[in-house]
Order: sequence, then C-alpha cells, then structure tokens
Amino acid sequence: MRFGAKIESAVLALLLAGTVACTTVPETGRSQLNLISPSMERSMGRDAFTNLKASTPLSSDQNATAILQRVGSRIAAVANLPKAQWEFVLFDNSQANAFCLPGGKVGVYSGMLQITQTEAGLATVLAHEVAHAVAHHGAERISRLIVVQGVGLVLISQFIKMDATSKNALMIAYGLGTTLGTELPHSRLQESEADRIGLLYMARAGYDPAEAIKFWQRFAEYNRAQGGSRTPWFLRTHPLDEQRIEDLKRLLPEAQLQYRPRGKEDPPATTTPTLPKEISKTITLINPKTGERKVIPWKPGMTIYTARRKAGIRPSGPPQLTRAGKLRPAKPATTLKAGDVVRWK
Ligand SMILES: [Zn+2]
Repeated sequence: MRFGAKIESAVLALLLAGTVACTTVPETGRSQLNLISPSMERSMGRDAFTNLKASTPLSSDQNATAILQRVGSRIAAVANLPKAQWEFVLFDNSQANAFCLPGGKVGVYSGMLQITQTEAGLATVLAHEVAHAVAHHGAERISRLIVVQGVGLVLISQFIKMDATSKNALMIAYGLGTTLGTELPHSRLQESEADRIGLLYMARAGYDPAEAIKFWQRFAEYNRAQGGSRTPWFLRTHPLDEQRIEDLKRLLPEAQLQYRPRGKEDPPATTTPTLPKEISKTITLINPKTGERKVIPWKPGMTIYTARRKAGIRPSGPPQLTRAGKLRPAKPATTLKAGDVVRWK
C-alpha cells in the first residue's frame, strides 16, 4: 500500500514537472531511466525484506551466517550506495540462488553455498548482488515498466502489493512479446553490468577476482546438471554462462589492478606483469574515513592535488603516498607516478 501511493505521487510529480529522470550507474557510467528516488527504493526494499524474513525460514547454520555477514560487510564497505541499509541474510532453501532488493537487502539461499565453496566464491555472489543495488537495477526495471511498457500507475501500485505468483501471472498477461522484446535483453544488460561492477568490488574488498571465474564455471556446471541448458537462449535472464565467463576474463586485468590481498598495506598497483601498459597507468586514491577508493587514469605532471580534484573526493588530513610497495612522505604538490596509491590520514 505504502509503496504504491509513494510511487504514484513521485511519478505524478515528475510528469507534471515535465522531467525525464535519469541517473548514472557508478563504475560503468551508463545513463539509465530512473523515476524512483533512493529513499523510496530503501523503503520498498526494507518492507519487502521484512515480509520475506517473516515468511521464509532462515538458516540455522550460525557459522555460515557469520561468514556471510563478514564477507557481506567487506563488500558493502567498498560499495558506492549512499545511505544504504545493508543486510545479508542466509535463508534455509536448497536452491542455488541469491537476490538483492533495492536499497541494500541481500538474501542468499543455503543451497548456494555448495557452489560458492570458498569465501572468495561467496564474495563473487555478494558483490554481484550488491552491484545490482548500487546500480539501482530494481528501480530501473520499475521505471521501464511505467514508461516504456506503458503500465498504468494504478496497475503499478497494485503490482507492488501482489505476491510473487500474482506478479508472475500479471507479467504473462502483459504479454510475453514485450517481455522478450525489451525486458529480457535489458535484464541481460543488467546482469553483465552487475558482473562487471561486482568484479571490481570483490577485488577492492580484498578477494582475488580470478576466483569469480572459477565460481561461474562451477555455477555453469551446476546449471548443466540441473538441465538449465535446455532453456532456449531467448528466455534466459542470465547471460549465457559461457558468454559471462568470457566477458569476465576480459574484465579481469582491470579488476586485478585494484585487487589488494587483505592484511597487506597497499601493495603497488602495477605488480601484475601481464597487464597492458595503458591499463596499468592509473592512480589509486583512498579516503580512509569513508573507505572510498577511486582509480583514475594517470597523466604526466599529475600531482596529489590535481588527482584528488579529478577523482572528486574531499578527504581531510595530510596525504600519504605508497610507491612500489613503500610508504613515502607526500604533500598535495607531490608529483605522482603511474601506479601510485594515495591515502589521507
Ligand atoms: Zn544478477
């Protein structure tokens, strides 16, 4: 009830103002249609998650739950979603599945743990789900439903109140034609985007991004065993497993550049010998207060001051510079070399 009224008034306000509402996805820079405000997203996600937790059994495995929450909070610490209300819950369900609700509510089914196997495997799944939230994919889907598919506001408010079965029935009633034409390809785009952002996030949280490829290979094997490959390609919402793995391999060098094993203080950003030169010419800036970490392209003559301006961050305190694995004294006017890591006290 509450979401419906909020969405109606928000959309109405937008339509009256004659605005086309767009937001930009962090990391990929893609511009997306988005009519849902972050606070509305949080409220929708919170309410839906509360209902889910009341109606779905939680896992009684306290050890696995603790690991989930530890890995989840590390991923959340590097995720760019202001005011997010992160919550990571392990549900007792033998399916290998995980989901994310708008605003930062992540659920994992216990059946997924046989495929994640390691903390890095779990980090792959959580980073992918966190990326969906950061990229406002849920809000984008609702916005597309409203604008592109012409679903009326009243219908949307009814839709949000429905249970899953009625929602599925409505989607079918709304025509598989439009779903195949617009909704599914768009889901694949969102999936690839979540893979890409997730890979960066797991690396920044200290998990080896190469483990993501191993996880998706195990997941592909599981899908094959489940007979998932019999689903025709145009009905799949997830990118084809082989395609996803190929895409991730292509993105791996960029993520590896940002990977720092936990427990080591800022190893040099350019240690991977196989990296092409142009990719390795970057500066990493870390704001220790917020945990914010930005990687920007290096330019000759760049100083700590100009790099900070370029990255658009405003840390306080004197800067510190790590070059070739060693901490060196620095000032705002210090000229940077490619691969330098700057953090503030
Ligand atoms: Zn996904």
